Amino acid sequence: MHDDVSLTTERARRVLTERVWPAIHSESAPLEVSWHELPGEPIAPSEGLALDYTPYEVGTPWGAAWATTWFRLRGTVPAQWAGREVEAVIDLGFDKDRPGFQCEGLVYRGDGSPVKSVNPRNQVVPLTQSASGGEEIELYVEGAANPVILDAHPFLPTEQGDIQTSSARKLYETRRLDLAVLEREVHDLALDVQVLLELQAELPAGPRRMRILQALDDALDVLDLQRIPETAADARAQLADVLASPAEPSAHVISAVGHAHIDSAWLWPLRETIRKVARTTASMAELIEGTEDFVYGMSSAQQYAWVKEHRPEVYARIKEAVAAGRFLPLGGMWVESDTVMPAGEALVRQFSQGQRFFEREFGIRSHGVWLPDSFGYSPSLPQLIRRSGFDWFFTQKISWNQVNVFPHHTFEWEGIDGSRVFTHFPPMDTYNSELSGEEVALASRQFRESRHATGSIAPVGHGDGGGGTTREMVGRAKRLADLEGSAQVRWEHPDEFFARARRELETPPVWVGELYLELHRATLTSQHKTKQGNRRSEHLLIEAEVWAATAAARSTADRPFAYPYDELDELWQRVLLHQFHDILPGTSIAWVHREAAAAYEEIRSGAEAVIDRALGALVGTGDSSVVVNPATAARAGVPPLGAAVAGDLPTAERTGLHETDTGYVLENDLVTVTLSREGHVTSAVDKASGRDAVAPGREAGVLQLHQDFPNKWDAWDVDRFYQNSVTDLRDVTSISAAEQDDGAAAVTVERTFGGSSVRQVISLEPGSRTLRFAQTTDWHETEKFLKVAFPLDVRAEHTAAETQFGYHKRVTHTNTSWEAAKFETSMHRFVLAEEPGFGAALVNDSVYGYDVTRTVGDDGAAPQVTTTLRLSLLRAPRFPDPETDQGAQTHVYGLVVGADVAEATEAGIAMNLPERTVRGDHGFDPLVTASGEGVVVSGVKLADDRSGDLVVRVYEGLGRRAKGSVTVDAPVSRARTVNLIEDDLQQDAVELDGGTAALALSPFEVRTLRFTLA
Ligand SMILES: [Zn+2]
Repeated sequence: MHDDVSLTTERARRVLTERVWPAIHSESAPLEVSWHELPGEPIAPSEGLALDYTPYEVGTPWGAAWATTWFRLRGTVPAQWAGREVEAVIDLGFDKDRPGFQCEGLVYRGDGSPVKSVNPRNQVVPLTQSASGGEEIELYVEGAANPVILDAHPFLPTEQGDIQTSSARKLYETRRLDLAVLEREVHDLALDVQVLLELQAELPAGPRRMRILQALDDALDVLDLQRIPETAADARAQLADVLASPAEPSAHVISAVGHAHIDSAWLWPLRETIRKVARTTASMAELIEGTEDFVYGMSSAQQYAWVKEHRPEVYARIKEAVAAGRFLPLGGMWVESDTVMPAGEALVRQFSQGQRFFEREFGIRSHGVWLPDSFGYSPSLPQLIRRSGFDWFFTQKISWNQVNVFPHHTFEWEGIDGSRVFTHFPPMDTYNSELSGEEVALASRQFRESRHATGSIAPVGHGDGGGGTTREMVGRAKRLADLEGSAQVRWEHPDEFFARARRELETPPVWVGELYLELHRATLTSQHKTKQGNRRSEHLLIEAEVWAATAAARSTADRPFAYPYDELDELWQRVLLHQFHDILPGTSIAWVHREAAAAYEEIRSGAEAVIDRALGALVGTGDSSVVVNPATAARAGVPPLGAAVAGDLPTAERTGLHETDTGYVLENDLVTVTLSREGHVTSAVDKASGRDAVAPGREAGVLQLHQDFPNKWDAWDVDRFYQNSVTDLRDVTSISAAEQDDGAAAVTVERTFGGSSVRQVISLEPGSRTLRFAQTTDWHETEKFLKVAFPLDVRAEHTAAETQFGYHKRVTHTNTSWEAAKFETSMHRFVLAEEPGFGAALVNDSVYGYDVTRTVGDDGAAPQVTTTLRLSLLRAPRFPDPETDQGAQTHVYGLVVGADVAEATEAGIAMNLPERTVRGDHGFDPLVTASGEGVVVSGVKLADDRSGDLVVRVYEGLGRRAKGSVTVDAPVSRARTVNLIEDDLQQDAVELDGGTAALALSPFEVRTLRFTLA
């Protein structure tokens, strides 16, 4: 027979788009609208409803960027609509092609209770399923004029990203504010046609596809385009058989979970996220109330806390839906944080603060970690996830890799310590699924574990203010539950998916080490002040906890000290919020980073206040200088976590300083450093071995400037070609040398380049093997990348870069595409290049990115291998913040000459936890002392349950088995091992010898000990 597939598909597509969808609302009646425009910050809903309203005409422009407009809608349901299903249709001027990222509205009843949101693809407010006619309707809409930042031509610099620079121009025009009759049968027909049309497009030529095409033709033949509501049922009858044909027994199974990935700040400020979450959760509560099997999952305790505080009526509906098992708290973290940069203690708090919130509010714990977005995953995570009591991990982002396709979708992920966590990546490659035919087919086609496993997860819904899951998505899921030719779709909790997958995959594939994202590599550097604020805040809070716990344990009637639980919780929660995966990575608008700087200043003063009070209680009142050491190694005679009166300490030697014809020599009893007249390090000799850390004929500490204009995602990406052009900054404005008061010798060098200038104080303290660089840059560059290079005379096979509770090794070569793709990688406080017998490390106070290159010189004799480590200091992208990193910036970093992992770890900690001098009467002994090679104390605090128990966290930092002990200098009645979130474990008893607990740790093991003080 004659056949033409495209004739049917084009017919169905046109009728569906131009006739059937528009016919879902037949009759309509305009609402009487009045409005009140508010510039600036939002107000509480009760105040919004009480505003003066003036008449408004539909089509009038509204909303300057970031302003709020309140609309009041009043009307009467026409008498002739009795018995009909009626809803309000509210189109604020939406661009349907861009769900999220634009204007949004939250709809309230006249009594101020929120109903649901209106969004580009969800513009209706259901009012009644069967009208009486004559009902008086009063609704209010809180319209948020969020500007489009990521426009059709993306990544152009824009001033709209901060309310201080955004335009006053009205951005939106309303199109429709009506009451309308919903034609339920037409809506169902639209979904029937859409599902079948999309399904057939994914099918091979064959009987199933042909029968669907014929059924579509038959349905369209009986649909009278002038009487669509009247003939929709007949058209649906023609589709009933093909829709009733069940799925093949081996069809892929999709575990759908309603979702809205709401970035806690990004192209909007934190205050707008509070409203985005309230809008989306109101809509999701409404959708849950109107459906039977739909479930919605939301992560991030912080987002629940916002709804609780700001929209308590919505929160009450969430709580009810959580209790009914329909609204699923996921992930157990405070926010969906970056996982590459936060310190180990901070990641632990993401889990402990998140799980404590879910337990307190809902009486539940999450069983898995939910992180669909976020830019790469640290190899410490498997241990932290498992030791926080979770048993699964979910992400999606690695499908964004530029080069290599990740080989698994359901697998075991193994971390640096050998811990494994059962992990799933949805093969649909999205966390904003609409359950389109294409997405559903993609999941089935791409799923890598199909030989043994049956299914995958699909997070379904529009994120970022798109409003979450729609009733159309729920309608599609219903049709796809058991349909021939399609994967089967069912709503279910991810826990159920993981339980089934675990049963099916007896021997899952294993991936060892970091989940490196081959994209967004510049997120390790962009927005330096945010990164510095994070690093400083983490260390100040770790320090505040140590001194507060010490003071609390030593509290007496004379000098009482109460552990400041609430203050520390609040400070940690602010740090955790700013670790969100678009704040710490530096990819938000200017507004967010401006506020982050202010937040970090408040965190600093809050933490310093705790430290002051605690140390005041510990050192007494007096006028002596007391030196306090928060680091994990003794310093100038002061024990770790203890303090001593300065006068009692041995006087330090002084570092030697000599000026020569060619430059300067700095020398102490460990190292000799020579600097050129250009302020570059020409040699750095470890006296014990005689080895020079600097490669022969090379210079270290050279600042290098690259052009850096990626193909897209400016703040996120640095593309490989940035390496092709480089300028060494050699011009010197001034150079001078001086001895410092603390006995260090220092050379100060100043340079100018482009529109910028830089000042480096390069110093060597007595007794230290770290050559320290304190750098201040007045940065006024555009689309540039500033690095500092250290070519090392070290034949390193690997670099060892610190991550949470340990380090990861990365090879220095680029043999495969996987290694070549890692041209910019992450570190915490140190990166080490080492060969047997000798190594050198770079340590820093606020850097997270580095690169390594391996070069070989061959003069005919032995090959000369040079390992060049470079720290990533500053960038200057112009999107989304056109002024990224402009102005004064500071960095401290250092070259540790003759370092191994232990020295590098110690030097990194020392740089980030500097000693402090306070006025007092006496020093004090450490409350906690650890012994054993490789045993590092990461946290000392009182228990979260406020029992007064002391919690001490240690880890093995060298990557080998360790034996040692932890001693508490206070009366202890009991000790036990707990998990990271301080739950008791099954085998938890720890034997005590006085205050000492013996330890045996496996490589990179993190151990949390809980001591009950007598
Ligand atoms: Zn995100």
